Amino acid sequence: MAKYTGPTCRLCRREGIKLYLKGERCYTEKCAIERRNYPPGQHTEIRGKFLEYGMRLREKQRVKRMYHLTERQFKRFFEMAERMKGIVGTNFLILLERRLDNTVYRCGFASSRKEARQLVSHKHVLVNGKCVNIPSYLVKPGDVIEIRKKDLVSVKNAIESVVRRGVPSWLDVDKTNMKATVKIMPTREDITMPIKEQLIVEFYSR
Ligand code: SF4
Repeated sequence: MAKYTGPTCRLCRREGIKLYLKGERCYTEKCAIERRNYPPGQHTEIRGKFLEYGMRLREKQRVKRMYHLTERQFKRFFEMAERMKGIVGTNFLILLERRLDNTVYRCGFASSRKEARQLVSHKHVLVNGKCVNIPSYLVKPGDVIEIRKKDLVSVKNAIESVVRRGVPSWLDVDKTNMKATVKIMPTREDITMPIKEQLIVEFYSR
């Protein structure tokens, strides 16, 4: 499926929740969800009723957009979760959480996942001292993630504002040296956004 190139805030309005796609702006009154919390487009009033399929589709779209993934990337992670032992939905969310771009965002080195992805693909991120430019790389306990160039303004700004959202307990962040260690695997409880992963499992199992 093609990459979405339209207005970012429209995605949040479509899903009816803040997906935090625009960094600092998401915490201000300029946020489109604060100002216009109704679906975009005309005739929005007739779209209110969701059938079961619609609910599952919306949940899938919501999480896919939250993690800034294409359908193909998202599905690939879901299939990976299906092959693992345990609960598929939980495995899936944990896999998404362990992506390197998400980890950089969670550490507070970027103000959005999109920005984090750019940092990774532009070779600004080291994992265990080696440059890794694959956003889908899965971090594991013991990995040390580091920003290569310490004078990047966007990273400095992101670190200053990370207090707003906090750093999850599975990461140990050294803000001064722009370095973080993965202490343990993330758990379902570390993902605080309101996600109903069972609906995504049902969507792909239909
Ligand atoms: Fe979504 Fe952020 Fe735009 Fe608000 S400002 S609608 S949270 S992307």
